Order: sequence, then structure tokens, then C-alpha cells
Amino acid sequence: MPVHLYGQCADMDPILEIAKRHNLKVVEDACQAHGATYRNRRAGSMAHMGCFSFYPTKNLGGYGDGGMIITRDRMLAEKARSLRNYGEISRYRNSLRGINSRLDEIQAAILRVKLEYLDIWNRRRFEIADMYNKNIISNLITKPAKMEYGTHVYHLYVIRCAYRDELREYLKDSGIETLVHYPTPAYSEKAGRGLSPHGLATTEEYSKRVLSLPLYPAIRDEEIYRVCEAINKFKKGSLKNEDN
Ligand SMILES: *Cc1c(COP(=O)(O)O)cnc(C)c1O
Repeated sequence: MPVHLYGQCADMDPILEIAKRHNLKVVEDACQAHGATYRNRRAGSMAHMGCFSFYPTKNLGGYGDGGMIITRDRMLAEKARSLRNYGEISRYRNSLRGINSRLDEIQAAILRVKLEYLDIWNRRRFEIADMYNKNIISNLITKPAKMEYGTHVYHLYVIRCAYRDELREYLKDSGIETLVHYPTPAYSEKAGRGLSPHGLATTEEYSKRVLSLPLYPAIRDEEIYRVCEAINKFKKGSLKNEDN
């Protein structure tokens, strides 16, 4: 289950090749990557199944919860359709134990209208990321990598900094809110116990360093410049100096 994290597709060809060799099914988690591409294919369309979330903060979000599965496999489509509606195969005939996971009509109506703006909003996200890329000049910051194989839709713009918590506090003092995606590796959570018994070194390190900067289509250019300026002024120990 590759995750197209932060809005950029995972390198799918090698994954699909491994899956093919071992006769495995691949499910794309495209919940952060609506509209992203990988070698001219769209996120969610490359594997056996693609999953999207329409949670309000996603690149395509409703005004409440919602989601979508896409697949070319008729059997999988039928099964998913049945599972979202208590496992019904026809009215009040249940062949599976399903759940209630229907997309309600109000959300569908909102999403249908917003879908037309998805590419425009994604382009604006790209523009904002580009402004961050060009205007953040600090040797304390590692900017997100952009792969050549596709288009990034910047659900999030995630930098890395060895002094992440201090930087976050410093930005907060400057009136700039940031978030951390994500503070702990999934396997460190009680619910994820056993997922990776020996831990993953890169994951451990990144979970301590990642910081998501403000990014949404309606943010103004001046606001982005202000974030960049604050970041460029940040030095290790900046907070303590201000207190003195
Ligand atoms: C938001 C998100 C989900 C979950 O979406 P729900 O709508 O809450 O089910 C899953 N994976 C990723 C990568 C996400 O960003």
C-alpha cells in the first residue's frame, strides 16, 4: 500500500513490478495526492485500487467526511460498493458483513462543483511551493525533494530542520502556525505495535525534524514572503536571545 505522501506520487513502477513478480495486489493511498501525476498517469489510477479521502483539509475536500475508491476491476468495484452499504447485494440481502460508508448526497454535490477547480487550486499550491523553494535561504533547512517523474500537488510543504521544535516555537512567536506531519512513526503507536519491530532509522529521524509550513490556495503572496523572511532570520538559540 504505497502512500503518495504530501502530494507526490511514490515511485510506482518498481513497486508494481515487485507486486507482479509475487502476484500481489497494490492499493494506492492517494488521499493527499488528488490530481498528482506519475509518468503521465494520475495518482490512484496505476494499481489495482486507488483510495481518496475528501476530508475537508484535503486538496479536494467536502464539508464533512467522505472518500472514494477507484478500480478497473469489476469484481473489486462490486465488492467495495457492497461493503459501503452493510454488505448488501440487493435490498436487504447481505452476503458480506459491511459497514455504513456511503458518501452522502450533500457532500457529493459540493465535491462535484469543487472538482472543477481542483487543477486550478493545485496549480496555486505548486506556485506557493515554488515561492517557498526560491525564497527560503537557510542552511538550517532542508526543503522537500521534487521528483522528476511527475507533478507534485503539494498537499503539504514539509521542510526538515534539526532544531524543529525550536523553529516551530520561534515561528509561533512570530504569529506563524505550523504543524508536524507526523510526530511519531505509526509503529510507535499502541495501535501500530508490531508493524516494524526493529524500527526504521530514517522514519525515526524525520519524525523529529519535519515541519509543515502554511499552504492553502487562498494564502496571499505577502504571507508566504513573511514566512520565508522569518525562517531565514531563524538561528539556533534565536528564542533564548529574545528572552535576554
Ligand atoms: C487523510 C488521509 C487518510 C484518511 O482519510 P479519511 O478520510 O480520514 O479516511 C488516509 N491516508 C492519508 C495519506 C491521508 O492523508
